[in-house]
Amino acid sequence: MNNLIKPEEIIYPQFEYAFSVIDKCTDDYIFILDFENDCYNISESAVERFPLPNSKFHHVTSTLKNIIHPDDFNMIEKNLEEISEGKTKQHNFEYRWKNTDGDYVWISCRGQVISDTKGLAAYLVGRISEIGSLKRADNITGLLTDIQLNRDYKLYTSKNKNISGYLMYIKIDNFGELNRRYGKSEGNNVLRIMARILEKSVVNNTRVYRYENSSFVLFNYQGDCANDAKSTYNNIRQAVERATEKIDYKLFFTVSAGVVEFSPNKTDKIDDIYKKAEFAIYSATKNKKNNIVIFSDEEYNNYIKRLKIQENLRIDIKNNFEDFELYYQPIISTRTKKLVGAEALLRWKSKEYGHMSPIEFVPILEESGLIVPLGKWIFNTAIRQCKEWQKYIPDFKVNINISYVQLRTSDVLKDINKCIEETELDPQYIVIEITESGHLDMNNSLIRGFYERNFKLAIDDFGTGYSNMRYLQHLNVNTIKIDRSFVERASRNPYDFKIVKHIIDMAHSINLEICLEGIETEAELSVFEPLKPTFIQGYYFGKPVPKDIFYEKHIKSLFSKDLSKNH
Ligand code: C2E
Ligand code: MG
Ligand code: MG
Repeated sequence: MNNLIKPEEIIYPQFEYAFSVIDKCTDDYIFILDFENDCYNISESAVERFPLPNSKFHHVTSTLKNIIHPDDFNMIEKNLEEISEGKTKQHNFEYRWKNTDGDYVWISCRGQVISDTKGLAAYLVGRISEIGSLKRADNITGLLTDIQLNRDYKLYTSKNKNISGYLMYIKIDNFGELNRRYGKSEGNNVLRIMARILEKSVVNNTRVYRYENSSFVLFNYQGDCANDAKSTYNNIRQAVERATEKIDYKLFFTVSAGVVEFSPNKTDKIDDIYKKAEFAIYSATKNKKNNIVIFSDEEYNNYIKRLKIQENLRIDIKNNFEDFELYYQPIISTRTKKLVGAEALLRWKSKEYGHMSPIEFVPILEESGLIVPLGKWIFNTAIRQCKEWQKYIPDFKVNINISYVQLRTSDVLKDINKCIEETELDPQYIVIEITESGHLDMNNSLIRGFYERNFKLAIDDFGTGYSNMRYLQHLNVNTIKIDRSFVERASRNPYDFKIVKHIIDMAHSINLEICLEGIETEAELSVFEPLKPTFIQGYYFGKPVPKDIFYEKHIKSLFSKDLSKNH
């Protein structure tokens, strides 16, 4: 050992010039390993990046041992021994080196053996590149990235047609919150904690990758199924709980997972697997977090159908509300049995799906916000229709349903006011129906606007959700509409009947009007009539119909009867 020449005195005339030139024109680190002198010579820039004693150093194996990841070291040591013993001339590895921050980064190391005159290995000359810069490894967590996963997936599926296993997409639920609260470096810390937990939680034949932002992927390529994935996820979840407990919940986080299985007869392209995994994690995090969802074809197809419906709705709205129509259902005064108005009900005849129930498409309009432009059209159409029918019945009222999504956009009122001015319809003839009292808030600018302009307000579907009488008293509601499901139960069950009776009595006592929805038969009418609801709406008096039919059935006849009475 003492016989070694000082590293700085060792020169390599045959390489030195080329080394210095190449070093200037590459981001890679160039290296020469001199077996005879047990000396390692590497680009200066590597000394800044990795904790190396110098750009030239002795005791190659023991020095490199300090920076090579313990899991990778044996493989490299063995290869260098085989090279010096002349057993191989190959050196081509991807492994991890510790950087000066103490994090492991992935490197690709390729070298060429140069033999001496006796044919023994004299030098290993080559280059080291950080594969993190090729984005195949992530320098924060030390994990491989999805770019490497794409390669691995292709490799495994091309090598082995019988491959089966699963891909698990894992996400830190509240990563954005952690970053906002504690800053990026604590966020990175959480990513590192997570990476170590994942590495420890997986079984053999499962690789861990860092995916974008706060997510990771586990790739199991040896036969494990969804149940195995679930138990791995449970281990991960428990480990996360322990880890957050250990740091006194200072950095509290939970993880969710989406899993896609693949099997020999069902190996998708990697893009399809990602697409499905994205959907599974979306399902896992949509309603609750800290949750795992296994991909289901049926749920995915329903989701895609909803997106297609949304697309068709958007196109029809853009094409001047093509394929939409308002139907009108009569509302009858219980006392006089006369028509007092109509509820406007939206209909859509899709080119692709035909007639579809509003129960199916209204939630899609709400989710996508499309209910806002369409709602303006509904108001315009119904207000103009009401004005027209007032020619025959001067105090004819129109009921218009409004969604809670519309309540968030106050410019709806501007549009309605314009239409009111143009038609000169008195707003007291417009009844705004709002589903569930929970959405009725007098601080809402739209509701306040309706109230100030003297529109009438009705609570729709009373009895189905959260409905509180006392609370209603403080709101300026005029009418409560009792839902069909309630009416139906009350006609069969004395207990429900009593509740309806109490609701009606109570409503009357605080001067609220009551509309019973969904009276279908004479028998139902005779059950509820004695309770004296103010209005009745139901198939018994008429189903929702297009405007012309409504006019024919409910207005013209009235009008001609009245005319004949006058004569
Ligand atoms: P809703 O506002 O409670 O409307 C009453 C629903 O009960 C209507 O269903 C009507 O056809 C149905 N109905 C009335 N009488 C009877 C009866 O005797 N028997 C039975 N079985 N059903 C009866 P529709 O038209 O299918 O509408 C369903 C829901 O879709 C509406 O419930 C409302 O929440 C929503 N919707 C409809 N049009 C609009 C709209 O223009 N805007 C908004 N935001 N939602 C709407
Ligand atoms: Mg309604
Ligand atoms: Mg209703």
